[in-house]
Amino acid sequence: MTNNLLSIVIPIYNEGKCIDALWQRLQSVEANIRDFAIEYIFVNDGSTDNSLSLLKHIAEHDTRVKIISFSRNFGHQIAITAGIDYAGGEAVIVMDADLQDPPELVHDMLEKYREGYDVVYAVRRVRKGETYFKRKSAEFFYKIMNRLSLVSIPPNTGDFRLMSRRVVASLSLLRERDRFVRGMISWVGFRQTGIEFDRDPRLAGETKYPLRKMMKFAFDGIVSFSNVPLKLATWMGFITSFLSIFYIFVVLVKKFLGYTLPGYASIMISILFLGGVQLITIGILGEYIGRIYNEAKARPLYLVEETVNIDGNRYLGEGGGRDKYIPSPTRGEGKGEGKQ
Ligand code: UDP
Ligand code: MG
Repeated sequence: MTNNLLSIVIPIYNEGKCIDALWQRLQSVEANIRDFAIEYIFVNDGSTDNSLSLLKHIAEHDTRVKIISFSRNFGHQIAITAGIDYAGGEAVIVMDADLQDPPELVHDMLEKYREGYDVVYAVRRVRKGETYFKRKSAEFFYKIMNRLSLVSIPPNTGDFRLMSRRVVASLSLLRERDRFVRGMISWVGFRQTGIEFDRDPRLAGETKYPLRKMMKFAFDGIVSFSNVPLKLATWMGFITSFLSIFYIFVVLVKKFLGYTLPGYASIMISILFLGGVQLITIGILGEYIGRIYNEAKARPLYLVEETVNIDGNRYLGEGGGRDKYIPSPTRGEGKGEGKQ
């Protein structure tokens, strides 16, 4: 599909302090894009500040600005998903609202898209204004993630990326509830490439990812893309059983040699050790069962309270755009750039 439309999806959660500056930056970037019309899809993820009214004000003067407003806060990954579901462009870009993802990079992404790439992700060369802990823990996470899962997720990337229509259409078939969107995009495949940039500090306001949410995000990433933790549980079982056999032997030998000591220390150690291993194992099982439970409930991913500048048939999610756009071997038959 080529319609020369670029959709820019921006999740918004209490970004009142950033919206005006963001909108200005977007417009100056847009001034230099000639070959694409642009639509903006702001997803208001249950903001409790004035974000929605600021967005509505912009949308009033510019019908290319579309708003999807959730009934409550559903989380960043779901907000992105909704934006992608409603995006009608042949290319879709997801970016954060706090200007940590510089909108100017859109030019470079489009350049790669014209060259024929389906996914252009932005790689953070430096990350300003982020704590040492956040950088190190992110590095550690991607190392584990790539060791454990079959899809490889480029380190130092966020959700700031461009996707072609066939990637978006494929992604819309993946309706899992605990979502790790950047992993899902890697899983989809097609031609992917990265471009580097220096990440600025957040323009204003607080990060919406406190440690608790970061942890959940990391668990979602690993558990949705790897069964290795389950295997780990099995291996821990084997290893402790093996050690126990060895220790039972030691105890028996001691007994026959007449060392019948009170044995408090050894009993405590084995109880604590086995107890720990068992709890970890149950915990790992729990992580997976919890997610199975979530899937079994089959609730919708999000609920929309209102939309602005969006007509009724716009929703393209859950394969809704499938018949129209399902991946064709060559992107955008016939017309436009980017074909081989
Ligand atoms: N966000 C959202 N819902 C949430 C949390 C965050 O829509 O529950 C949005 C937020 O408004 C921002 C983007 O997701 O546009 C990234 O959040 P943030 O900048 O706080 O994350 P960080 O850059 O600190 O990892
Ligand atoms: Mg940010």
